[in-house]
Amino acid sequence: ATPLSITVGTGKGATAGILIRSAEALETAHKLDTVVLDKTGTITKGTPALTDVRPTGGCTEDQLLALVAAVERSSEHPLAAAIVAGAHARDLDLPEVIAFDSVTGQGVRALVEGREVLVGNHRLLAGAGIDIQALQRDVQLLAADGKTPMLAAVDGEAAGVIGVADTLKDGSAAAVAALVQRGIEVVMMTGDNRATAAAIARQVGINRVVAEVMPEHKAREVKRLQGEGRIVGMVGDGINDAPALAQADVGSAIGTGTDVAIESSDITLISGALSGLVTAVDLSRATMRNIR
Ligand code: ADP
Ligand code: MG
Repeated sequence: ATPLSITVGTGKGATAGILIRSAEALETAHKLDTVVLDKTGTITKGTPALTDVRPTGGCTEDQLLALVAAVERSSEHPLAAAIVAGAHARDLDLPEVIAFDSVTGQGVRALVEGREVLVGNHRLLAGAGIDIQALQRDVQLLAADGKTPMLAAVDGEAAGVIGVADTLKDGSAAAVAALVQRGIEVVMMTGDNRATAAAIARQVGINRVVAEVMPEHKAREVKRLQGEGRIVGMVGDGINDAPALAQADVGSAIGTGTDVAIESSDITLISGALSGLVTAVDLSRATMRNIR
C-alpha cells in the first residue's frame, strides 16, 4: 500500500478506537483466514463473580469459602478476586495464611491454621496426588453452565468445588458472526476447563476450541495453526497471551488489558470490543483495494 493509503487507513482506525501500530498489520489483516480469541477478558468481561460453593462434606459452605478465600487473598488472578469478593459479601472472617505458593495456570496453595489448602484445577490436585473422584459431578455440572469450577483440597483430601462465572461482553457473538461471514475461522483458546470453554464457545458461536492450554503453550498453538498454512490473527488481554500475540501474523490486544499484551501486539482495540477486529479487517481490505 502507498504511504498515503496507510496513513488514511491508520487514521480511520484511530477514529474508530483501533490503534494500528504498523503498516504491515494494516496490510496483513485482510489476509487473515483464522482468528484465535483468548476467552477470559477477551470474549468475556474478565470480571468473574462467585456463584457456587459446594463442600463435599465435613465442612459448611462458609467454612470452605473462608479457607479458600484466605488462600486466594494472596493471588492476583481474577478468579481469586471473585472468590475473595464473594467471601466478603458473606461477611466471613478470613484466617491468616503462611507459605503461599501459586502455580501459573493451575492454582494456589497455602497453610491455613496448620492445614494445607489447595485451590485450582484438576491438574493442580492430581499433581498433588489427591483423589478428586468425589468432586467430578459438581465440576461437570458447573462447567456445563459455562462456570469455571475450582477444586479445593484440605490436608490431601478433596474438600469441595467453588464456581465462578464470567459474563460475555456485549457484541462478542456478533463479532464472531461477522468474522465467520468474512470467511475467517474463529478459534477459542483458554487455560480454562474444557467443558467450561465449550459452553462459552457455544454461547458465542465458536465451533473450534483449544482448552486447558498452559500459559506458555499459547504461542505454540498459534504457530501450529500457521504451520497448516494459515494466516493467523490473535486477540488477547493477559500477560499469558503476550507471546501468542507476538507470534500471530496480526496480534490485537484488548485496550483494557495488561501493558505486556499491548506492547506485544500490532493493534490495540481501545474499548476492548471484539467488533474492533472486524473493523480492522475491513479497513485493511479497503486500504489494499485502493492500491490495486
Ligand atoms: P485463562 O487462560 O482463562 O486466563 P489461566 O491460564 O490463568 O486461565 O488459568 C487456568 C486455570 O487454572 C483456571 O481456569 C483455574 O482453573 C486455574 N487457576 C489459575 N489461577 C488460579 C487461582 N488463583 N485460583 C484457583 N484456580 C486458579
Ligand atoms: Mg484473558
